[in-house]
Amino acid sequence: MGYTPSQPKLLTDRLLCSWVRCPRKAWLDLHGNPAERIWTPHRSLQLDQQYRHFKTFLHQKPRKGLEGIKEGAEAVIGLRIKALDKENNLLEVHPPLLQKIKGESSWGNFAYRPVISKQGRRITREHRLSLAMTSQILGTFQGLNVMHGIILGNSKKGLQVEKVHLAQSLFNQLNDLLSKILSELEKPETPPLTKDRKKCVLCSWRELCNKKAAEDGDLSEVSGIGKSRSEILQGLQINTLEDLAKSEPDDLTRKLKDINEQHGKAAKDLIIQAKVQFHSSPKRLKESIAIPELITSRGVFLYDIESDPDEKEDFLHGFLRVMNSNDGSWDLKNAKYHPLLITHDNKKTNALCWKRIKNKLIKYPDLPILHYGETERIALSQIAKKNGSSSQEIVDLQKRLIDVHKRLREFWRLPTKNYGLKEVAGWMGFNWRNERAEGARALFWWRQWRLRDRTGLNNTILLKRIFEYNHDDNLATWRIATWLHNQGGVDQIFGK
Ligand code: SF4
Repeated sequence: MGYTPSQPKLLTDRLLCSWVRCPRKAWLDLHGNPAERIWTPHRSLQLDQQYRHFKTFLHQKPRKGLEGIKEGAEAVIGLRIKALDKENNLLEVHPPLLQKIKGESSWGNFAYRPVISKQGRRITREHRLSLAMTSQILGTFQGLNVMHGIILGNSKKGLQVEKVHLAQSLFNQLNDLLSKILSELEKPETPPLTKDRKKCVLCSWRELCNKKAAEDGDLSEVSGIGKSRSEILQGLQINTLEDLAKSEPDDLTRKLKDINEQHGKAAKDLIIQAKVQFHSSPKRLKESIAIPELITSRGVFLYDIESDPDEKEDFLHGFLRVMNSNDGSWDLKNAKYHPLLITHDNKKTNALCWKRIKNKLIKYPDLPILHYGETERIALSQIAKKNGSSSQEIVDLQKRLIDVHKRLREFWRLPTKNYGLKEVAGWMGFNWRNERAEGARALFWWRQWRLRDRTGLNNTILLKRIFEYNHDDNLATWRIATWLHNQGGVDQIFGK
């Protein structure tokens, strides 16, 4: 798809949202090769959340399209509205939901206002602009301007309904932006990568853009460099990973300290990381043994959770028990995987899950619990606390936990662009059975499983996929732990 000279240029609300996230994304949505686009679960998760918000918000089933409007239905979905702007550009919106309100419109003594659903806590610029664009076109369509919209979100008490006033300044901003987008999208060059590469995690063009960033040696490829650091370094004429790798540590520390103390402190480590990535060669930071607990332990638990951040619930606690054989090797072949699922986030199922976790841990009181990252420590402590464990019991439990991610960061710098489980274990040669599996996809399967009557999908398959992914995350953690262990250390050399 692209613009052709003979037709009015079309700009949709979807393109506007893409542009606000990243201009390159909007350009690729319009001109990119669809074969290079990947499916990500984020849009489906957003639609699922939207469905649940609308279901709670509405008292009756919404009607569809123009017919619904003409009948004066309380709520209408599935409408596509188009309008020409002053420059004869065609603007199109597809409001997720319109709600009936009082007012004199082309339809009679009622009108409609836009309703959208948000993930996360904040109302973003994207939400406001998208509401303003719908409201503007809806105004022409129904003969009445509505200067507000509704945003639905989650709160501790349930559904949060916020009425958002749309100021005239927002419409001015919108119209300037629409003109800019239309002219920028006409250009043949692909816009540059976004500086804030965190956004790329959710984006369907990420494989294409990751490839480009790696080819260019983009600064965002260096672990520890986000939007702000990248801009500061570019201001110092350090534009690529190679430039950073070749920087002089004391000089960079001084220059960065002048800007910000924290950046100054990080300078040397950033250069080490860039060097490691540039030469594709890991660097050891400490000579002692990274996980000495593995030398004497007769076995370990690997522990990984799956969570639904919107619902603030950990729905799966997965444990893998690996024992040490008589010959001193780790018996991975007979490792026992045990997934503990919390099917409903209520007191009873939570208590039952904790009871089972506790029984498991009590049965092997000497086994350390290895996990990757802070989340598992927090989740395990929380479920213990929720179910009446004393402070001392929680302290004892935490003593058993070993954060493999923390040990890795303390002991090594690796030629990886980040220290996430996927990136690190992948570098060590670990492959997930489902190569596209990721936390967001597991969450998507979980939400589908919970809506099993609606999707008609075989729920056993969905659960199997979640367990397989969680099991593999545990195996990946184990791969990193054993890699660290196999590097030895001075304590071992001197036989301490
Ligand atoms: S992957 Fe990142 S840089 Fe590429 S289009 Fe998406 S958000 Fe923009």
